[in-house]
Amino acid sequence: MDRYGVIGHPIRHSRSPAIHQHFALLTGQPLSYERIEGTLEGFESEVIRFFAAGGLGLNVTLPFKERAFALAVERSPRAQVARAANTLGMTLEGTLWADNTDGEGLVRDMTLNLGVTLAGSRVLVLGAGGAARGIVQPLLKAGIAQLDIANRTLMRAQTLVRELESVSNEVPCHAFSWSEIPEHPYEVVINATSTAVAGDMPPLPATLFDQRTLAYDLGYGKGPTPFLELARQAGAGQMEDGLGMLVEQAAESFYLWRGIRPPGAEVLRALRAACH
Ligand code: NAP
Repeated sequence: MDRYGVIGHPIRHSRSPAIHQHFALLTGQPLSYERIEGTLEGFESEVIRFFAAGGLGLNVTLPFKERAFALAVERSPRAQVARAANTLGMTLEGTLWADNTDGEGLVRDMTLNLGVTLAGSRVLVLGAGGAARGIVQPLLKAGIAQLDIANRTLMRAQTLVRELESVSNEVPCHAFSWSEIPEHPYEVVINATSTAVAGDMPPLPATLFDQRTLAYDLGYGKGPTPFLELARQAGAGQMEDGLGMLVEQAAESFYLWRGIRPPGAEVLRALRAACH
């Protein structure tokens, strides 16, 4: 059987095996997909060993996405903007390639599963870490009209905006510190900080949200995240967590490896049903 897997540390709670096994079943693809507990000292040799033993593809999760990007020889443009990779594969010639499917997963979840029109929207991204880096270029490609990035550490947001401007300056992009976030409503506000995990969301102006605003948290878990709760109280029209992005980024990886697009929406429905 063709062999795939996900490597991270810790990896015990990863939902990727369940998602990919479901994809394989629905598309009739004979493959196995395993969890691999990576080590901080040995990540690179563990990846090389996996491919040398005939493995065909790896998903990469925290804390190895930057190291996966550095290890690969061929890197997609979206991985280059992110400077991080969540998908690795091997060409027929034996060259290790890296891609980043997080942003495509977000855009597909928003546009296909949630029916949101990104084209022409004003978008605010909170955070400028690895996840934010992964989503900004696909958002720009989806035709948004304006991209504002706010981060606790202003310099990281400024660096990201400068890098985006060096690739293309068709869409206005601006960096803000948390205390300078503009106080007008956006059509889309995305939480790409890690606050869903720690639950320590700093305050945001209530005026960011109105009935037309989609508040989207990349984080997910049982019940609404602190960001989604804050958005609901401030009057946002729609609140969504990042489970759909998780499924759709996996679907994009599956497509890169197998050339077949699995039905993300169906797997997402099954996952949500299993969570309740
Ligand atoms: P990261 O690289 O560690 O970046 C963390 C970001 O959160 C930084 O911008 C950091 O600001 C900010 N932050 C942390 N604590 C904060 C606080 N108390 N107040 C304000 N800002 C704070 O993490 P990441 O890889 O970007 O991941 C971010 C989140 O995205 C995680 O929850 C992860 O699970 C989620 N994610 C979801 C998916 C999906 O498929 N749904 C995919 C990828 C990631 P500073 O720069 O100031 O430190």
